[in-house]
Amino acid sequence: MAELLAASLIRDVPDFPKPGILFKDITPVLEDPAAFQQVIDLMTEKALASGADVIVGIESRGFVFGTPIALQAKLPFAMVRKLGKLPYERITEEYSLEYGTNTVEMHTDAIQPGQKAYIVDDLLATGGTAAAAQRLVERLGGEVAGFGFMIDLTFLDGKKALGEKSVHALLEF
Ligand code: AMP
Repeated sequence: MAELLAASLIRDVPDFPKPGILFKDITPVLEDPAAFQQVIDLMTEKALASGADVIVGIESRGFVFGTPIALQAKLPFAMVRKLGKLPYERITEEYSLEYGTNTVEMHTDAIQPGQKAYIVDDLLATGGTAAAAQRLVERLGGEVAGFGFMIDLTFLDGKKALGEKSVHALLEF
């Protein structure tokens, strides 16, 4: 396979947002159209191969990757947003963080019963966020066809939180 142009563009930022976290900064990838396009092409292939009929993006960087994938795949795009952002009827899922909890929401009409969703984010860490997105999709009567990430921090074993579902990442650290 051709070299992944994004691989050399991901920037490590130590101690962000707090001491001990090595943050994977993907913004240089977005600033390089050839690298960004390659990432979108490869992630779109995986989304289509999963048989998905809707792309679900997780706020915020999941929107940056999820929307071009949805357009390229000619599939609808549905948003998983942080608490308090969605204006219409919604359902809510809470999940645990290292300290405290976080909450994500979806509009009740974002997924139609029986739809197969491909859940997209920039990076898989512990998998807590993506698992909460899966619960939202399933509560709306949808099914998860798979998960797509640009990066998987494999040492955090996030795939385990996502159970039996297919998980694809372009890069592993
Ligand atoms: P998790 O729920 O632990 O899988 O965390 C995933 C979310 O947190 C994703 O939206 C990531 O963008 C963000 N995230 C977690 N850890 C990192 C990291 N080391 N570098 C960049 N983003 C991260």
